[in-house]
Amino acid sequence: MQYVSTRADASAASHSLQQFSDILLGGLAPDGGLYLPVEYPQVSGEELNKWRHMSYADLAVEILKKFAGDIPEADLRALAHKTYTADVYRNVREGEKAADITPLRVLDETEGKQLVLQSLSNGPTLAFKDMAMQLLGNLFEYALAKQDAQLNIFGATSGDTGSAAEYAMRGKKGIKVFMLSPHKKMSAFQTAQMFSLQDPNIFNIAVEGVFDDCQDMVKAVSNDLEFKARHKIGTVNSINWARVVAQVVYYFRGYLAATRNNEQKVSFTVPSGNFGNICAGHIARQMGLPIDKLIVATNENDVLDEFFRTGVYRVRKSAETYHTSSPSMDISKASNFERFVFDLVKGDGKRVRELFKKVETEGGFDLSGAPGSDGDEFKLVANYGFKSGKSTHADRVQTIRDVADDYGIVIDTHTADGIKVAKEYMEPGVPMIVLETALAAKFNETILEALGQDAERPAGFENIEALPQRFEVMPADVSKMKAYIAANTGL
Ligand SMILES: *Cc1c(COP(=O)(O)O)cnc(C)c1O
Repeated sequence: MQYVSTRADASAASHSLQQFSDILLGGLAPDGGLYLPVEYPQVSGEELNKWRHMSYADLAVEILKKFAGDIPEADLRALAHKTYTADVYRNVREGEKAADITPLRVLDETEGKQLVLQSLSNGPTLAFKDMAMQLLGNLFEYALAKQDAQLNIFGATSGDTGSAAEYAMRGKKGIKVFMLSPHKKMSAFQTAQMFSLQDPNIFNIAVEGVFDDCQDMVKAVSNDLEFKARHKIGTVNSINWARVVAQVVYYFRGYLAATRNNEQKVSFTVPSGNFGNICAGHIARQMGLPIDKLIVATNENDVLDEFFRTGVYRVRKSAETYHTSSPSMDISKASNFERFVFDLVKGDGKRVRELFKKVETEGGFDLSGAPGSDGDEFKLVANYGFKSGKSTHADRVQTIRDVADDYGIVIDTHTADGIKVAKEYMEPGVPMIVLETALAAKFNETILEALGQDAERPAGFENIEALPQRFEVMPADVSKMKAYIAANTGL
């Protein structure tokens, strides 16, 4: 399988084709686009039948080998079996099997309308990012060992991404992680999760400032190309292609677990921010997985809901980006959205370049087909099964209460956004699978507000706030940051 940038000129495409291993460790393509395969591999009904009863790890191999043909299958198998184990994804609810990796639970079945929860948050950091990041850690270690190379991951986090990256990379040979977070601004639970790691290759840096200061420092360091090259700086943000591929696997798994034969269709509702998770669902559907609808659920930060209702993509300014009780969906623009737009404009890289230039200069584009708009492709969105909806803090609190009362389980705030929106699109005969993107214990404040009691913590997390913490407090000063990195990479 070869890869091309979403902004590549079709005429010059042959010059910029890449293999999976070439793009594994990188982020954006040099032209500022995102990588996509030149075509989506197809899955036959016969293959689906064979995959129905496979272990999660073996299913992951079947899908990975379609995208990463340049890595020997035996190596992919070893990596998948090391990643997707019952021990890594052990934080399941009572009655669920850790060996299922992403257990499904039917919540409701009224009038033939089935509501199903697929749990993606049983990994070490209790959020769905572990599903891809754990594989990425093993893939990175494997690829770096082959090249006898090393990589220093440098990023900023306000919570989920940073901890998922650290738990995936801890103890990995050839890799160090430098993670900035705003000093004293994360929840006690999230702080404890990250700062209690004692692995010598993990560097937690608490910056005296807010999240934007952390991100500005990452940008400043990334823009210093000489420094970046000398210190072998890389990232693990959600546009990384291998992360998207790893996420494709659980859509297949969810489909196969919720159906008995390939005649049946299912829909998925996905709590969304950067469009990484649901982009994997879009790819699964393009590969031939019988998905009826893909429903984007947003919180008050409704950039994506606005697009899927109107055809207008309008990124938000910082002042318009709200801090909500589902904080991992608090985004001003959706960094993976360009991958979908590329498909929507039929792979016209020049058009994608123009549209996203407009995002930079004018803050967005309009594909509604209205007079003066930038195009009329919005009418094609239905062909891809997309629908959307929005949920607010009041909806989350109510949904958490309803789900506890009606089904006897406690869900987190992001998943609550998903369930609220899913209920607007339920249909008889088409199971609605809602992806559970975090466990409630991570966002206890809102659980307390909704239920008047604390969320239960999985075994081993009872007292994490009391564990010794290892971190460095630093001012928001780029030259001090560079000196710190230089001293610790030893390069
Ligand atoms: C990251 C995250 C999301 C959003 O996923 P995207 O891939 O950015 O759309 C939703 N819920 C939780 C808990 C997350 O950590």
